Amino acid sequence: MPLYEFRCRTCQHQFEELVSMSSLDSVRCPACQGNDVGKLMSSFSSRVKSDSGGYRPTASSSGCSSCASGNCSSCGHH
Ligand SMILES: [Zn+2]
Repeated sequence: MPLYEFRCRTCQHQFEELVSMSSLDSVRCPACQGNDVGKLMSSFSSRVKSDSGGYRPTASSSGCSSCASGNCSSCGHH
């Protein structure tokens, strides 16, 4: 399972959690138990992705707080 970084939009608490893709929406903040958390791109997960998935390094398009892949409307990439 990949390690993801999250930040709670309610209390700004930042934490890391191992979650499957299907469980991303059910991640809750460990500090306030809120579910309004945004996923961040950690250097760890992007390094794993480039090693195992053959993706090109995407230092300039690592996504925004509302997406993981850097291709949502607020990222401006693709
Ligand atoms: Zn919180």
